Amino acid sequence: MSKDWIVNEETGGRVDWIDCDFTHLATPGVAGLTPYHPGKPVSELKRELGLDDIIKLASNENPLGPGEKALAALRDLPDLGRYPDGSGFALRGKIATHHGVRPEMVTLGNGSNDVLELVTRAFVEPGDEVVYSDHAFAVYALASQAVGAKSVVVPADENYGHDLRAMVRAVTDRTKVMFVANPNNPTGTWSTGSQLRELIDGIPDHVILVIDEAYFEYAESAPDYPNAAVWVSEVANLVVTRTFSKAHGLAGLRVGYGLSHPKLAELLNRIRQPFNVNALAQIAAEAALNDPEHLQRSQWVNKEGMQQLIAGLDSLGIHYLPSLANFLCIDMDQPAHSIYEMLLREGVIVRPIDNYGMPNHLRVSIGTEEENERFLKALAKVLGS
Ligand SMILES: *Cc1c(COP(=O)(O)O)cnc(C)c1O
Repeated sequence: MSKDWIVNEETGGRVDWIDCDFTHLATPGVAGLTPYHPGKPVSELKRELGLDDIIKLASNENPLGPGEKALAALRDLPDLGRYPDGSGFALRGKIATHHGVRPEMVTLGNGSNDVLELVTRAFVEPGDEVVYSDHAFAVYALASQAVGAKSVVVPADENYGHDLRAMVRAVTDRTKVMFVANPNNPTGTWSTGSQLRELIDGIPDHVILVIDEAYFEYAESAPDYPNAAVWVSEVANLVVTRTFSKAHGLAGLRVGYGLSHPKLAELLNRIRQPFNVNALAQIAAEAALNDPEHLQRSQWVNKEGMQQLIAGLDSLGIHYLPSLANFLCIDMDQPAHSIYEMLLREGVIVRPIDNYGMPNHLRVSIGTEEENERFLKALAKVLGS
């Protein structure tokens, strides 16, 4: 390794790290990872293009942000000199009551992504298999590869949705975990209750099934959308994850949770960092669960915004996948990356999803009425229609 280090002639001691590469020292899983690409931050686009008036519809955040109750709780600052309650006693209790389960069935996460990772770290060894769908949420691949798992990526159905029967067929003796996003990001596609029950009945007990319901609150009013959280009391190998990042508008605070059998939760809690959810996140999340009005407003804004975007896209003749989430996956019918870049120059940040194997699609989060209008105008402009 020492030959890679270059002594800086002028300062003598300092080294130039440009030529260093530690990849060969990393675990094979980490060495082979492609990092997660977050949506472009507004501040970055400001720096790059010197634009002032920018809207971001790229990370499926709630355009209303946090509710009044969460903000009020945050203003009443806890003692930040102290560590947070590592057990998250109050928040877990609140979540347990909300779902009618026992607090021991709740695992708190630094975002629900944290819980997804706890599952692979607790159950998956190098060489074990993790099953998920093609075009599924990127964190499934990251969490699996980081622990050296073999990712078994099952082809999606003809509408980019999860093919649950094919996922059952992909299970082997080495399968430890299966991830199902319902609805899925970035496609917005969903599975019905009977499809999921068939999956649950079809997989063996040694497979931990994770049903990721990050967009539950947006989807719940659809008649064929199931609430998998009610199944955790009867299905022992099931983990259902939820988050405060989307409909509750708390993405910046990082808090989510898993629901599962208490013995499964106990294993996840063994490896959870003791203070993974900070004090502010805990009190804001608790307040958010006491604020059904904000949730309803958020759901309403999303419903209206969805109709507005659909009407606008229809009139432009642009196709999109039906979505139960707070975003639309739109089919540009041509490589979409250049359209993404043209939209950036209009001050509109959306999400290209080439890295999801969908180079012709863009994912657009539903914003406020003004933001949706601005996006539709910008899109019409860059398409020259
Ligand atoms: C946004 C999202 C999450 C939630 O991430 P957090 O870590 O809770 O912010 C989880 N799953 C899917 C499919 C998502 O799109």
